Amino acid sequence: MFDDRSRKYSNQYVPLNPVNIDLYEPFIGREALDQIKFLAKPLHKKVWANVNSTFVGGGVAEMLQSVIPFVRGLGIDGRWFVVEGSDDFFTVTKKFHNLLQGIDQPITLEEIFHAYLDTIDENTKNVKVVGHMVTVHDPQPAAIIMNGNVYGHILWRCHIDTSNASRRIWRFLLPYINQFEGAIFTAPEFAKNNLQIPTYEVCPSIDPLRKKNKHRSREEALKVLEDVFNEHNIDPDRPIVAAVSRYDIHKNQLGIIKSFKLMKQKAARGKHPILIIMGNSATDDPEGSKIYEEIKAAAGDDKDIYLLLNVKNNDEVVGSLMSIAACFAHVSTKEGFGLVVTEAMWHGTPVIGSKVGGIPKQVMHGSNGFLAAPYEFDQIARGMQTFIEDKNLRDEFGKSAREHVRQNFLLPHMVTKELILMRYHLEIDNKIPGFRMNKLTYKEISQALYGRTVWPFSTDDLKKRIEAIWEGLDLEGTDQE
Ligand code: UDP
Repeated sequence: MFDDRSRKYSNQYVPLNPVNIDLYEPFIGREALDQIKFLAKPLHKKVWANVNSTFVGGGVAEMLQSVIPFVRGLGIDGRWFVVEGSDDFFTVTKKFHNLLQGIDQPITLEEIFHAYLDTIDENTKNVKVVGHMVTVHDPQPAAIIMNGNVYGHILWRCHIDTSNASRRIWRFLLPYINQFEGAIFTAPEFAKNNLQIPTYEVCPSIDPLRKKNKHRSREEALKVLEDVFNEHNIDPDRPIVAAVSRYDIHKNQLGIIKSFKLMKQKAARGKHPILIIMGNSATDDPEGSKIYEEIKAAAGDDKDIYLLLNVKNNDEVVGSLMSIAACFAHVSTKEGFGLVVTEAMWHGTPVIGSKVGGIPKQVMHGSNGFLAAPYEFDQIARGMQTFIEDKNLRDEFGKSAREHVRQNFLLPHMVTKELILMRYHLEIDNKIPGFRMNKLTYKEISQALYGRTVWPFSTDDLKKRIEAIWEGLDLEGTDQE
């Protein structure tokens, strides 16, 4: 039987209430809903544990807040664990994040051993994660696969754009990742060839029932925004370019400011656009305040640029701001997917996005928004200007943006794929899921012949092995082989 010791650690396990699944019918239709219920039937009462590194802030936490109630509504016992760590832990995992996204940063073995591996060890001493299915999100908790206190069929879900990952970090993580039963990526170009496990393509999603994604009339949205607009002296009648994201180097808020300043010089007389950048910082992101200060300096004394930080009533404000904006700008230099893009599009607001990571899956240049390279400030500015000056185009693109999200990126679409994965890995179905990206792996074939492999090392043995590999590593370049 499954051990339920985890329930004793209330800070680590969040039981969210189930949601009534039928409430999703207006968004996806009866047929899709019936298919989900059908898929969930044999998974009734099965435990699906999710592990990540924060309950709030960022896209993963955002999704899990909806995924858990949704699967609970289907009768699956969805659970959510968070690894706990000191500032040092989050500093080193933020480095992992940056290195995986191709930004080179110094990182030492000492950090990896003490700040990272020892913290993971500490976490698993206190908490046993047990599920029929376990999904571990992103690199922060990935190492828990090795020390044996996680039980079930365990998948790794990578939300990061790893297409240019630094060789150094990928080589460190690879032995861990290859211990999972499978890995899920947002796009095929993020999955590397040297993975020896099944890889799947699943896009993130947004929950249409959340306050943030609820539709409001302009009057309702302005009511929500009243306090914050008064506080910052924002005139709601001026056309708004909106941007929402964590204050993070890859989100390129500086690029948005540069493009907006360029656009202001060209915009038609009498329009007087303003730029509102809203942002927060996640508990697992130690760099947020430094980046915020940099952005504040770049905005300088420009009276048309407003920066909002950790706003009260966050969800309603985000949704309302997105819905009244003339356009939304999101020109990250790296982006796993960009849920903010999905959210803005769902509000019928066209997006000027960068041709990076998961953004082009959502923004289709010239039909529901515009795409540019992250540093093509002229192009970004032109996109902003077009939407500010041409209301018809804005409405037409906005409508098609919303429809694109409705058909592809709502919570039930993503959960459908997760259920298919659960059924496959729990051996309820044996047909390989259609969104599988690679063929049968060597590991799968050998497992079929000889049974599952068990990792044989203690953390100390493991550290010795990593040290030996680290010595002989060619640390230059990105890992493309
Ligand atoms: N977000 C928010 N308030 C903010 C900034 C961001 O609620 O001030 C939310 C945003 O609406 C989205 C998530 O945080 O749901 C960010 O997800 P995304 O995939 O865009 O980026 P990530 O932070 O995961 O890199």
